Amino acid sequence: MTRLCLVFIYNAKRKGYNKGMLCTQCPRSCNIDRAVAKGFCREGEKIRVAKVIENFTWEEPCISGKKGALAIFFSGCNLRCEFCQNYEISHIGKGKQFTINEFRDFLLSFDLSKFDCIDLITPSHFSLQLLEALKGVSLPVPIVWNSNGYETEEMIKKLCSRVDVFLVDFKFYDSALSEKLCGARDYFSVASKAIKLMCEKKENIFKDRLMKQGVLIRHLILPDHVKDSMMILQHIKDNIKNPFVSIMSQFTPCKGSLQRKLTPLEIKTVLSFAERIGLSQGYYQDEASANDAFIPKF
Ligand code: SF4
Repeated sequence: MTRLCLVFIYNAKRKGYNKGMLCTQCPRSCNIDRAVAKGFCREGEKIRVAKVIENFTWEEPCISGKKGALAIFFSGCNLRCEFCQNYEISHIGKGKQFTINEFRDFLLSFDLSKFDCIDLITPSHFSLQLLEALKGVSLPVPIVWNSNGYETEEMIKKLCSRVDVFLVDFKFYDSALSEKLCGARDYFSVASKAIKLMCEKKENIFKDRLMKQGVLIRHLILPDHVKDSMMILQHIKDNIKNPFVSIMSQFTPCKGSLQRKLTPLEIKTVLSFAERIGLSQGYYQDEASANDAFIPKF
């Protein structure tokens, strides 16, 4: 009996998403059946969508383009940072549930030519379900995988067959900091490998100023943690060939221990450092972006 179960789980892992499989989709490796239990991401086996915004223009210009993205915000999160601006959906969870086939039909119900990309926001805990939903589907615009970087190399290899653009956060360098803010002491070791692999697999290709394929690495500066930002940027510079980066200063206090905005000096220090070490391709955000007007209402 034990042997049979092991064979079933092994096959489930090999073929993609299967009902009854134990979830090891992300590095949390909760090993639970999401049909009957919830793991760290707090989501069941069905894909749950918290919000959809058509013609969404708040991503970087090479992602949003002129027409904007079809932005699909998923409920739950496998990282659950205490300062998350989308706390209402990442921690509490809300939205409409879809089976794999229902999600495919839902996506195809939009006139996708009206957008410059499909922006899948915080999708990692539904990776296998989404891969299944997108299997064999021909889409007129790139699929953007907008994730927190806490993903296994095994999953990134699978995603590369379907995802065009990785819009990925690279959040923390220090393990004590990631432990404190999201309960993932191994964040840096996991995300650094995942992001390096994304960059090796997806060369940056632009057309009409839009990223059609590639990796845009985001880093959000946190109050009191300028040194951590510098360590992340130095790591990117030393380990990624021709990195395309987006340095964000939009931090807005929400829940948790970080309860103030960035100071102009903190922003300037990080941006000057990026310039000094030669991170010249990408985007820098200005101070005005630290405003809760830029947080979608869920
Ligand atoms: S996707 Fe969710 S349930 Fe699965 S391993 Fe990650 S956190 Fe756990």
